[in-house]
Amino acid sequence: MKKMLATLMALGLALSLAACSTSSGSSAAANSNNSSATSDTASGSDKVWLVATDTVFVPFEYTDEQGNFVGIDVDILAAIAEDQGFQYEMNSIGWDGAVAAVQTGQADAIMAGASIKQERIESGWIFSDGYYTATQTIAVPEDSDIASFEDLRGTSVAVKNGTAGADYAESLKDEYGFTITYFDDSPTMYQDVIIGNSSACFEDTPVMLAYIKQKGIALKVPEGLESEGSPYALAIMNEDNQEFLDLFNAGLANIKANGTYDEIIAKYLE
Ligand code: GLN
Repeated sequence: MKKMLATLMALGLALSLAACSTSSGSSAAANSNNSSATSDTASGSDKVWLVATDTVFVPFEYTDEQGNFVGIDVDILAAIAEDQGFQYEMNSIGWDGAVAAVQTGQADAIMAGASIKQERIESGWIFSDGYYTATQTIAVPEDSDIASFEDLRGTSVAVKNGTAGADYAESLKDEYGFTITYFDDSPTMYQDVIIGNSSACFEDTPVMLAYIKQKGIALKVPEGLESEGSPYALAIMNEDNQEFLDLFNAGLANIKANGTYDEIIAKYLE
């Protein structure tokens, strides 16, 4: 019991440290972008778009070994800002926090591997064009026999609050008779499966595969259990920020056409 408490405390400390370094890393990224945007922008707009993101959603946003906040979302936004000549600040505050920041107007947009979902559109989210399509699925301990949803019966699974993975688990729980525990961030959710409290966790397929590969953690992704999947997009709630969506979409089309988009994807996912 004592040992478990110590592990949990160490984990909490690691997470709070990660949260610090990501936010300073992201503001550094935003600053370097700001200076280039000011020097070559013709529009002359002083507007700094505030974009909220997740803390650890590998390889879309995370802190690398050098302490830099990096990832596909980080690089795509930087490339689009450069292409369109706008200024922005990317703040890494976690999935729930980023959603709340946009809902309360503290951030203009969320860019955090956010899946386009009908329920989200119905509740007021306005999405950009999609930039990467992902399904959701489960990860289980490396030595687990779980190979189907039926194998989850009578167990408890882990999800990240408010995510498409959580929705997927919720849509299956009655049919397959499992319970759900909710976590605030991905690393804590994975940890709960590793220590054996949860039998599996539900999250985006490319994200779990990349995280397992990057960290070498003892999880695996059984085949054939993916959700239908949908594209990731930047999202706003306030219609007044439509201008930002337009800039984003125009820049996304350009970086897709000029090869920058492919380079970014290849850099993080091979
Ligand atoms: N793609 C998932 C969603 O939109 C998870 C996003 C995340 O956890 N950053 O809900």
